[in-house]
Amino acid sequence: PPSLSVRRLAYAYPDGTQALFGVDLTIGRGERVALLGPNGAGKTTLVMHLNGILTAGHGTVEVAGLPVGKDTLGEIRRRVGLVFQDPDDQLFMPTVREDVAFGPANLGVRGAELEHRVREALERVGLPDVADRPPHHLSFGQRRRVAVATVLAMRPEILVLDEPSSNLDPASRRELAEVLRSLDVTVLMVTHDLPYALELCERSLILSGGVIAADGPTREILADD
Ligand code: ADP
Ligand code: ADP
Repeated sequence: PPSLSVRRLAYAYPDGTQALFGVDLTIGRGERVALLGPNGAGKTTLVMHLNGILTAGHGTVEVAGLPVGKDTLGEIRRRVGLVFQDPDDQLFMPTVREDVAFGPANLGVRGAELEHRVREALERVGLPDVADRPPHHLSFGQRRRVAVATVLAMRPEILVLDEPSSNLDPASRRELAEVLRSLDVTVLMVTHDLPYALELCERSLILSGGVIAADGPTREILADD
């Protein structure tokens, strides 16, 4: 099955605001896709359906064939790795090691396997030597990459990033781009950064007014925009 399959997803908030009007999309394993669209388009609402923060909508969401629903939330939250816009919302332990170990430890991973997961995740984000440091001693760009590592340590099916390039200086931006390009995991990034989308994502989706208004190669999508 594809990493992500969304079918006729519609959602209205309790106050009646209709945020999604029948979204259909499929993301294959290993694809890197940008989710673009103006403020208020429904991007956040869609992302909240991917890991079951919201489940009240009509339609279906499946992650690697598993439907998102009340009975599957534990497994879905392992499969869908959310990287928030602010890394400081994701890093709260005294050391980087403990932050990266937190997710897999919660899943019951212990001992040498846990150590291995932490080392591997930090190597993948290009920060093999920071495990013993407190997160707040790292630069903002490094903290964002550690936040990515905390999610990779769960071995997710799909990595979902909210504005990954925001507030990064040019060097940190390049370092994160290199990391994202080197991963063999499916990636969906919500972004307003069109050059970043063009650089990293073969494919882009434009969400507008709660529907997918365009879906295709990023180069073509941006040319039409
Ligand atoms: P985006 O992430 O693309 O900016 P959102 O998913 O945040 O879009 O919002 C989609 C629509 O839903 C907007 O009209 C927004 O005002 C509305 N909305 C978002 N959150 C809520 C909420 N908690 N209650 C009511 N309406 C909301
Ligand atoms: P983003 O910039 O990440 O898309 P938004 O600015 O759309 O975020 O929303 C920020 C927060 O405000 C979210 O938690 C969203 O649910 C909430 N929100 C957005 N629009 C509304 C609304 N009309 N009523 C209530 N809450 C809203």
